[in-house]
Amino acid sequence: QLSQRLALVADYLPKGAHFADIGSDHAYLPCFVCLNDPEARAVAGEVNQGPYDSAKNEVEKHKLEDRIDVRLGDGLGVVDPGEIKQVVIAGMGGPLIRDILEGGKDKLSEVNRIVVQPNIDARSLRRWFFQHDYTLVDETIVEESGHIYEILVAEKGDPSSCYHQQIIEKEMWLGPFLLEKKTEAFIQKCKEEWKKKQYIVKQMKRATSPDEEKLKQHQKEMEWLEEVLQ
Ligand code: SAM
Repeated sequence: QLSQRLALVADYLPKGAHFADIGSDHAYLPCFVCLNDPEARAVAGEVNQGPYDSAKNEVEKHKLEDRIDVRLGDGLGVVDPGEIKQVVIAGMGGPLIRDILEGGKDKLSEVNRIVVQPNIDARSLRRWFFQHDYTLVDETIVEESGHIYEILVAEKGDPSSCYHQQIIEKEMWLGPFLLEKKTEAFIQKCKEEWKKKQYIVKQMKRATSPDEEKLKQHQKEMEWLEEVLQ
C-alpha cells in the first residue's frame, strides 16, 4: 500500500512516463507507477547502499528489472543527459532537493516535468524554479500521520506566469496554488506556522538587541498568514 503522499506524487506523472526517482529508498514509487502503467519506465537513484539494496529487492520482487533500473550514486549523477523525461525527488528537505537539481542541471535538457515533495522549506525550491525558468503548474498539500507535506510540480516556461506581481514574495513562501486552493491541510499548516512565528517574535522582542530586519520579516510573514486565516 503506497502512502497517500507518494500516490499524489505518482498522479503527477503522465501515462508512459520515463522518469528518475532520486532518493528512491525502497523504490515504492517507481514500482507503483510501473505496476499500474505497462508503458512506464524509471531509473531509481540512491546514494546510500542500504536503501539501494532495498530498492533492488523491491524491483526484483515485482519482476520489474526490465523497466526499473536501480542505480547507486549521488543525485542526478545516475542519469545521462537526455535520458529521462520527468524527475521526482520526494521526502527530503527543500534545500537538499534544490542542491540535487542545481548539481544535475545538465541532465534536465529533455525533462518536461519536475515533481518535488520537500519535507521543509518549499520556498527554496520555488526560488530555484523561478531562477531557472521553470514555472509551477500545480501544487498540492496533504496531511498524513500528523505531518503536512507539500508537492510542487514544475515545467519549463515563463517563471513569473504562476505569480501575481504584487504578492510574489508571499506566494513564493506559501505557494501560489496552495493559496488559491486553501485546503484544510493548508489552513492547518498556516495555523502552525503562525504559532511558530508568534513564539519567535516574542523571543526576539525580549532580546536586548534584536535583529530588526529579521523581526520585520517575521512580522510581515505573520500578517500574510493572518490574511489566509481571516
Ligand atoms: N523518496 C522516498 C519517499 O519520498 O518516500 C524516500 C525518502 S527518504 C526519507 C530519502 C532518501 O534519499 C534516502 O533513502 C537517502 O538515502 C536518499 N538520498 C539522500 N540524499 C541523496 C542524494 N544526494 N542522492 C540520492 N539519494 C539521496
